[in-house]
Amino acid sequence: MYKVKEKGKNHFMIYRCSMSMEPMIELESSLRKGLERDEFILYYQPQISLLTNEIVGVEALVRWERPGFGLVPPSEFIPLAEEMGLIVPIGERVLLEACKQSVSWREKGLPVFRIAVNISSLQFQQNDFIETVSRIIKETRANPNDIELEITESMAMGPIEKNLAKLSYLKKMGFLIAMDDFGTGYSSLHYLSQFPIDRLKIDRSFISSLGKSEKDAAIVKLIVMMAKGLNFQVLAEGVEEELQKEFLMDIGCDEFQGYLYSPPISADDCEKLMLANAVPLQS
Ligand code: C2E
Ligand code: MG
Ligand code: MG
Ligand code: MG
Repeated sequence: MYKVKEKGKNHFMIYRCSMSMEPMIELESSLRKGLERDEFILYYQPQISLLTNEIVGVEALVRWERPGFGLVPPSEFIPLAEEMGLIVPIGERVLLEACKQSVSWREKGLPVFRIAVNISSLQFQQNDFIETVSRIIKETRANPNDIELEITESMAMGPIEKNLAKLSYLKKMGFLIAMDDFGTGYSSLHYLSQFPIDRLKIDRSFISSLGKSEKDAAIVKLIVMMAKGLNFQVLAEGVEEELQKEFLMDIGCDEFQGYLYSPPISADDCEKLMLANAVPLQS
């Protein structure tokens, strides 16, 4: 067990080094080319209802199919893409693809078509963000009710009034709004009550210390209570253990996502999982 882990860890280190030792300029140019060549693909992680144990949605997570490097995780290129401003066109591509996927799942009669999409702050701040989103909806004929936009608390650092107006407009268009990584950022509870949020996503860091830190358990409990009071749904991220899931069920958390059920997987694998959804979970 230990060996496997260590091997996995070393492997990861080598992999990281090979990317990070690469001259920045090369990485930048291949990121640009990657966009031109459509090398970004989406994986999907199921979101499970704690009430019914069924898949109720998925989160779209981008991967870079970089020639010679395999499937590159977002941590390896999103920060740079943000610095370069490339996250704006990449994010647009991601939203377009997620909308297409949602429509396709609806057309195929699959039981799930709610897809959550991560929206970077920079993307959200663009003056034409609403236009872009509207164009994508028109083009794909996706139902905004099926698309959840994941924003983060860093939104509260920008021009609040403008952001609030934008969010309200998106909400009126029918989109679902989720607050991602909740508890890690500049959560002003004041803004939280003003934002038109449908779902709070409790950050993985709190969930992974459940069972180890009584204080984090108290915080998770408090977030769930607060979410209920504010009429938000609440989802726990990064659930890996049965005991974590049971705790979340006990305190009335609505949904979870995490390796316990499934890591992010390809659209095809996700379809298979959704079709097998009726099969009870192994504990
Ligand atoms: P996130 O939005 O908070 O996504 C959840 C991350 O947690 C995903 O990592 C997922 O694979 C991972 N995860 C889920 N369950 C577990 C678990 O049980 N254990 C552990 N250890 N990890 C788990 P991923 O796919 O590497 O994405 C990392 C981050 O990159 C995302 O965090 C999000 O902030 C960003 N990201 C991913 N796709 C996009 C995108 O299309 N646009 C933007 N702007 N950001 C993205
Ligand atoms: Mg997310
Ligand atoms: Mg995030
Ligand atoms: Mg998150």
